[in-house]
Amino acid sequence: MIYADHAATTPLCPQAREAMIRCMDETWGNPSSLHTPGQRAREVLEEARGDIAGIIHADPREILFTSGGSEADNQALRSAALAGRKKGKNHIISTAFEHHAVLHTLKKLEQEGFRITLLDVHEDGLVRPEEAERAMDGETCLVSVMHANNEIGTIQPIRAIGKLCREKGVIFHTDAVQTLGHLPIDVEADCIDLLSASAHKFYGPRGAGFLYARRGIPVIPLIEGGAQEKGKRGGTENVAAIAGMAAALKNVSGRMDQVSAHLTAMRDRLIRGLKEIPHSALNGDPIRRLPGNVSFCFEGIEGESLLLYLDDAGICASSGSACTSGSLDPSHVLLAIGRVHDVAHGSLRLTLGEEITEADVDRIILKVRETVTFLRNMSPLWRDLESGKKPHLL
Ligand SMILES: *Cc1c(COP(=O)(O)O)cnc(C)c1O
Repeated sequence: MIYADHAATTPLCPQAREAMIRCMDETWGNPSSLHTPGQRAREVLEEARGDIAGIIHADPREILFTSGGSEADNQALRSAALAGRKKGKNHIISTAFEHHAVLHTLKKLEQEGFRITLLDVHEDGLVRPEEAERAMDGETCLVSVMHANNEIGTIQPIRAIGKLCREKGVIFHTDAVQTLGHLPIDVEADCIDLLSASAHKFYGPRGAGFLYARRGIPVIPLIEGGAQEKGKRGGTENVAAIAGMAAALKNVSGRMDQVSAHLTAMRDRLIRGLKEIPHSALNGDPIRRLPGNVSFCFEGIEGESLLLYLDDAGICASSGSACTSGSLDPSHVLLAIGRVHDVAHGSLRLTLGEEITEADVDRIILKVRETVTFLRNMSPLWRDLESGKKPHLL
């Protein structure tokens, strides 16, 4: 099997697995308990917090554990919005192709009286910092721009946007779920106030993540309960998953350059091969994209059919984001970069992991080419395109 869906989730790395098993066997206490087993669990928790903070150049007190990226996104936006409202500011800037954890929270905030501006991400899938600057006004309390997009992999100029926000005294949040452990992140140099991360996107377990909140940014709890996480999140901490997250992050961060060079080479080989399929197009900027991300549109086919045939051939891919699979609407990300509905329906996302080889890439190219040809030969839409009844768009 070739697993090429790392943007959806990654397998657990041995380091994370070991840390988790050790924790479940040996330090299973409740970290809020005052006795020895409790205090040993507390040590594991605080060591994980320190390791994670060090990697992103934060202070351990600025790391708040959550159940994952979605919760961190919700908590970041709600906290910044409330802080803004208290100062009489009710304008929020974001982008049209954020993850649904951000977009759906913004929709709710809009219903609660906030004014939302979604920045254009252009055909290349990149936000322009000058457009963010133009969108800011005296009422802006928050700018939220993801570090890299989960579907098309484009990497946003977050440092430039962060600096702008810092100058204007506006809170800057970035969803770094796709980049933490894959690209360098320095919350100081990048001028980040709030950052969301998720363990299962960097070879840690599902159900663990964190919110980085710069000291002085008021964070509100989404879950009321005990005094865990300094009263910012009720509920006994999932110590094993948190230990696994820290172990996974340490592991990937130590080898980032090497893995990134390999993935970039494999990505570019795959892009070259898929480009040779007629009436196809790469989605998003070819260079400013995640090392392992390849996203294509093929005219005249349904992405869902393509990925089911690929699954039969032992290749795991995705069409649009995992969250929209199963719905008939084309991906909001592809629509945001200007793909029309018919074209957006024929999308394929391949997100590579470090174990990928040249032979794997060549097999993917061969299978995608065969399957696209096969599906086109059965497609009435393709017949119309080929006979000239409908114009080709790619
Ligand atoms: C996966 C993902 C999330 C959600 O993270 P979970 O831990 O699955 O809740 C949020 N944002 C982006 C960009 C993602 O890729």
